[in-house]
Amino acid sequence: MKSQANQAKRIALVAHDKKKRDLVDWAYYNRELLSKHQLVATGTTGTLLEERLDVPVKKLLSGPLGGDQQLGAMIAEGKIDVIVFFWDPLESHAHDSDVKALIRLAVAWNIIIACNRTTADFILTSPLLESNYNIMEPDFSMYENRMLKQ
Ligand code: PGA
Repeated sequence: MKSQANQAKRIALVAHDKKKRDLVDWAYYNRELLSKHQLVATGTTGTLLEERLDVPVKKLLSGPLGGDQQLGAMIAEGKIDVIVFFWDPLESHAHDSDVKALIRLAVAWNIIIACNRTTADFILTSPLLESNYNIMEPDFSMYENRMLKQ
């Protein structure tokens, strides 16, 4: 099964506390390009982005309070095309299990994910970002009725 990431992408932005400045700086530098897309963010990250970029951002709950899980659910529902997630590799967090789950779902659903500025730069400058691109969705049919088959 394929889903199509259209020209205007649904871009999710998340940053851990010590990475928020990096993400906001990166987003500000790329604000013109980002403003062409639909932006979604966890609560605190979203508030900072709206203030600095002056563009609308759909804000979820704060990450540690369920925002990462909300985003994970949106990925599973096919509502996110790209995630830029500047997670902190030098700190552990109370919501590490949510962070892991979010990254796992992004990989499982084969969406575009950047976890550092270099990768985010490469994604934003990719000609594919402005095109219709068919994302190959993995075939999960063998998992769907597992309970029934046992
Ligand atoms: P926040 O959440 O943007 O609400 O701080 C990010 C996170 O820590 O997952």
